[in-house]
Amino acid sequence: MNKPPESSKPPALGDHVAAVPGAEKFGEIDPRARFAHVDTWVFDLDNTLYPPHSDLWPKIDDRMTVFMCHLFGLDGLSTRALQKYYYQRHGTTLRGLIDDYGLDPHAFLEFVHDIDRSNIEPNLTLAGAIAALPGRRLILTNGSRDHALRTCERLGFADLFEDVFDIVASNLFPKPDPQAYMLFFERHGVDPARAAMFEDITRNLLVPHERGMVTTLVVPREGARDHRDPWETARQRPPHVDFVTDDLDGFLLTLTAVVGDGATA
Ligand SMILES: [Mg+2]
Repeated sequence: MNKPPESSKPPALGDHVAAVPGAEKFGEIDPRARFAHVDTWVFDLDNTLYPPHSDLWPKIDDRMTVFMCHLFGLDGLSTRALQKYYYQRHGTTLRGLIDDYGLDPHAFLEFVHDIDRSNIEPNLTLAGAIAALPGRRLILTNGSRDHALRTCERLGFADLFEDVFDIVASNLFPKPDPQAYMLFFERHGVDPARAAMFEDITRNLLVPHERGMVTTLVVPREGARDHRDPWETARQRPPHVDFVTDDLDGFLLTLTAVVGDGATA
């Protein structure tokens, strides 16, 4: 990797940092100072590698409701309330169903991820930026491996990632449970002190920060539709979040200009 000369002015990340209170002061930080040591790049999938205004997540969310309607024989509104209770309290709806009812996870995962992905557009800008990151690239998701692979294929990310660590690989312990990260680090031989994590849910970055990862919260652009639940959205930058961006494509392009393979800035 060619490092830029000391005298060159680094591009700031400010243009790609979201207007979340507490985030603005990070805009002028030299990305070399925070990311130069990173050799493993870890990405969440849903609402991170595609934006939350996409209709993909609502489709999965609705399938969970339908699954639970059939399971419990409840009406839609009652089921929805129970589903959201599980999601917030247990990390995922599935974890709540396992803890309370001993549900077989495989039927659930297959059903909720059986969605139409035909309207997902490839994101070649983001694909190029991810491809330029120096080192290993991995996905860490609370969803299923099959869902991640199918979605990445539609996004044009089919060959970008070394592997997908899914909810089954984590023994059904979802982020933010510390066991999920511990199993991920062990399985893939990741040294968190040399890794960075990109994720759309604030609490899922707490353990990564504690373990020494550089943490970036990916948020929707101002005014964009956001299908996520209110508790999932950031209102201010907590101390365990190093960066906040509403433009992952631009953020990574700026980053790879100074730390990427073949960087010459
Ligand atoms: Mg997500």
